[in-house]
Amino acid sequence: MLPDPSALAIVIPAHYACAGVAFFCAVVALVGYQRLTYRAFSICCLCVGGTQIGQAEYYTAQTVEQAAASIKLQTGMWLLVIPQLFLFIGAYTRQVRIAPWYAGLCVVFGVLVVANWMMPVGLRFESLRMADPLVLPWGETLARFQGESTAIGTFARLLIVPIVVWAAIRTWRHYRAGYRRAAILLGIYLALQVASMVHGRLIDHGILQSFYSAGFAFMALMLVMSVNLLLDLVQRSAQLKHALTDLQASTALREAAEHREHELAFTDTVTGLPNRNKFREEALRLFAAAHHEKSDLAILLLDLDHFRHVNDALGHDVGNGLLRQVAGRLTQANAGQAFLANLGGDGFIAMLNIPAGTPAEEAEMRARALASNLQGALAGEFAVGTHRLHIAASVGIAFHRGSVETGYTTFKNAEMAMYEAKARGRRAIRVFQPQLAEAVARRLRIQDGLRAAQQRGELVLEYQPVVAADLRTASLEALVRWHSAELGRVSPAEFVPIAEQTGDIHPIGAWVLDTACAQIGAWTRSGVRFGAHVAVNISPWQLMQDEFVAQVQAALVRHGIQPGQLMLEVTESALLFNLEDCIERLHQLRDLGIKVALDDFGTGYSSLHYLHQLPLDTLKIDRTFIVRIGDADGRLLVGGIVNMAAHLGLSVVAEGVETAAQCDILRELGCHYIQGYFACPPVGDGALRDFLARSPRD
Ligand code: C2E
Ligand code: MG
Ligand code: MG
Repeated sequence: MLPDPSALAIVIPAHYACAGVAFFCAVVALVGYQRLTYRAFSICCLCVGGTQIGQAEYYTAQTVEQAAASIKLQTGMWLLVIPQLFLFIGAYTRQVRIAPWYAGLCVVFGVLVVANWMMPVGLRFESLRMADPLVLPWGETLARFQGESTAIGTFARLLIVPIVVWAAIRTWRHYRAGYRRAAILLGIYLALQVASMVHGRLIDHGILQSFYSAGFAFMALMLVMSVNLLLDLVQRSAQLKHALTDLQASTALREAAEHREHELAFTDTVTGLPNRNKFREEALRLFAAAHHEKSDLAILLLDLDHFRHVNDALGHDVGNGLLRQVAGRLTQANAGQAFLANLGGDGFIAMLNIPAGTPAEEAEMRARALASNLQGALAGEFAVGTHRLHIAASVGIAFHRGSVETGYTTFKNAEMAMYEAKARGRRAIRVFQPQLAEAVARRLRIQDGLRAAQQRGELVLEYQPVVAADLRTASLEALVRWHSAELGRVSPAEFVPIAEQTGDIHPIGAWVLDTACAQIGAWTRSGVRFGAHVAVNISPWQLMQDEFVAQVQAALVRHGIQPGQLMLEVTESALLFNLEDCIERLHQLRDLGIKVALDDFGTGYSSLHYLHQLPLDTLKIDRTFIVRIGDADGRLLVGGIVNMAAHLGLSVVAEGVETAAQCDILRELGCHYIQGYFACPPVGDGALRDFLARSPRD
């Protein structure tokens, strides 16, 4: 029967279409070629494409020979596909050690492929004869052929059974392992494939009159894999995106940690400025750059004056708070001109580049300008917690010209200049000069010697009378003296500031107070008429101690003296720190009956501003005013101070009166008391008794 050319053709074109799709899938699957699953799948697709063409040719075969050729192609392709399918399912379900099995199957099915090729009609049939064509309901006619099955063909089919069973087990395990979607899709394909194989057997045995469906079943696998590939790609790109985000996050975290580590290693934790490590690193760079460019570097060492006393008296929290604010102000004043760092505690350093060719005087001018800017920035009051603090700084400057190696020397020079600035009092700026080295060495000797001075009994007190207008002794001032075994006589004007910086002022001050009180007691008991009281100089740092009032009280009790026999002399600098606390302490002392004098009046800062707040008995006009009292201006000034003191109800002592003329002028101006070489220099106990014996009595 000839096929009806007008009939609808579905099955044959469908096979060709499936072949096309299979070849297309073979190529597309190569997108995932790195994975074994896709490589195996790609080969499967190629072979299946071949079976589809074979099947289509079978249906259109006009002769037995044509049918035999198409069956051979079809069977050969199926035989080739089995090991690939095995490999694919194995890889798909993550079967381990699949390679030897795959190799075994390749050998067996390879032999079968060869056998199929050699046999006249192929492996399926012994012989072939044309049967009645199959006419499908829509009129399409498919050629059909029949023949006897071969034993080897049956063997090949039986071989497929254990593979299918294994595939089913793998699919189940895969499902149990959590790959549900993949396992279900594979399961569907397997079910379809098995069903289509059974369907094919029924057709072969003439039980069913239908076209073969095995080729179409494989299309299901292609669909499965395409969907899987798509989902895989989506999932992988999501994973990639996720991994990328993770990576970015962890990189950011790592970078932040590294940055923080770097910050910690190179930043001072208190002030937030670059620390000593950073300074070292930067200094090497700056020295090398300066050497290369033949430029100079100014090194400015800035050290807060008496900062240790803030820590001692108010605690480290307040000290750190103050340092933080100081650093902030310094940074602002520096305005990026110099490299600024903290060397630990209250020591700061600024390194300023001076361009090549700048004359030495201009270089010094620039460095001094920066130094005074930095100092100036500290001028205003600092509010730390409830405390109102004032602090100043001394600056040492040294210039670096030369190689990196000499950098350390420059640093040391700046340090010497800074010590010298400190020795000169507060707020000084000093530029290094070679002769400074000597001054610094002496300073260090004093510093070391002072420690032992007390134990060795090298400290003694001298007393200087304060006399009234009629030259009667009104009171005494106790002044400490140091007769050093190594350095000879050292003036308190030199060693007291050093002791204040090192903290030695506390034991020394306590000793002075105790010795003076003991002397008052002794004189009182032996009837020496030394006047109303003995004045003892108090360092600002003693007054800042919480226990100071108790310490004074204990000395009074210990030596059995009246509070009114003791006067404490404080300087204005005492009040610069922590004004409220100091005023409070002075009030407590006055309440005990102890007298208080403001020493060196006129040399401090903004004296008039808080003079009325201070609980005072006496004002001591500094010697610098008395020296100039011969001038009209000086006279006016001292007259003004005397009037003001009278107005405030304070008695006035003029310090450093050396001549009768000065004495006369002071008397005219209404100054009640004078102290100075004119009346009597500071003397020891013996000389003092002589003086008192000679002085007028009432
Ligand atoms: P100050 O308390 O103002 O003491 C007065 C200083 O002037 C003393 O110097 C005294 O010897 C000196 N002086 C007295 N009359 C004259 C004079 O007519 N002409 C001149 N040129 N000088 C005169 P000194 O003893 O060298 O003491 C210097 C400073 O050292 C004192 O100044 C005081 O601030 C401090 N000081 C002395 N002893 C102590 C002490 O025991 N404790 C503390 N914290 N400071 C002390
Ligand atoms: Mg004094
Ligand atoms: Mg004085």
